[in-house]
Amino acid sequence: MLKEKINNVSTEFGEDILNAKNLKQIEDIRIKYLSRNGLVAKLFDELKNVSKEDKPSLGKSLNTLRNEITGKFNSVKSKLESSSKENDNKFDLSLPGTAKIIGSKHLLTQTLDEIKSIFKGMGFSVFEGPELESDYNNFEALNFPADHPARDMQDTYFINQDFVLRTHTSPVQIRVMNKYKPPVRAIMPGRVYRNEAVSSRSYCMFHQVEGLYVDTDVTFAELKGTLVSFARQFYGEDLNYRFRPSFFPFTEPSAEMDITCYLCHGKGCKVCKQTGWLEVLGCGMVDPNVFDYVNYDSDKYTGYAFGMGIERTAMLKYGITDIRVFFENDLRFLKQF
Ligand SMILES: [Zn+2]
Repeated sequence: MLKEKINNVSTEFGEDILNAKNLKQIEDIRIKYLSRNGLVAKLFDELKNVSKEDKPSLGKSLNTLRNEITGKFNSVKSKLESSSKENDNKFDLSLPGTAKIIGSKHLLTQTLDEIKSIFKGMGFSVFEGPELESDYNNFEALNFPADHPARDMQDTYFINQDFVLRTHTSPVQIRVMNKYKPPVRAIMPGRVYRNEAVSSRSYCMFHQVEGLYVDTDVTFAELKGTLVSFARQFYGEDLNYRFRPSFFPFTEPSAEMDITCYLCHGKGCKVCKQTGWLEVLGCGMVDPNVFDYVNYDSDKYTGYAFGMGIERTAMLKYGITDIRVFFENDLRFLKQF
């Protein structure tokens, strides 16, 4: 009788444990078989009713049954527990993600990228040079002799008697011409320095991009055509322009290029100081003296050069009125572009 019951419990447990799929079901099985009033305990109770002869073998069978049930139960339970922990750690793909803050290019870099791309489209390559420059490259070779009054316009930081923080990117023109023979068609962007009081209109450091084209028979008409094409691509197709005579030591003749004010469209406003015009860049035909410094034959070659401040260009294009905002790294400003 008891022997049969032992076999039945063993079979029943085998089926139950196979069907246990979660921790709730495994707890039900524990209560059913292994608790104080469970089936296994009840079988042990019945042991006292069997005959003396049968007791040892039945007792042994019961112990075996209890060990088998306990062993199997524990192994299934621990498997279910670990897989339920894995489930807890799995990603919930329906949850919103953690937003990453994505940076963007500084407005000055964006402006320079746009300028570069326009000039590259017209066949210009890009050259860069050092910010710490020799006095010779920064002034002398650009036709600013040591006693030239134009040096006063570009006061800078002298490292010693021979080296300065460059006041313009023009020394890169000297470097390019020293390295390459004509034809040369290049733009030179970079950071420059001036010893100036910081205000909304001037800063001790800013950026320029200059351009140079040297070949046989380069004319002022080509200079105008190139710059007007640039201005229309950069500021807008419908602008008017004018060239005013000006002076730079390294170009002759020299000019400033103005475009119609983007705010008042030429009527006159505060930004253009009621003139209707905005000055966007300086330019001119390369002075033959400069060609002599770089051993270009000034009887054979002519060329033009131009330069603009990148801060000023961005300020004109985006209506920014204080140059200092470019260098304050205030995210409220930077995020607008
Ligand atoms: Zn205006």
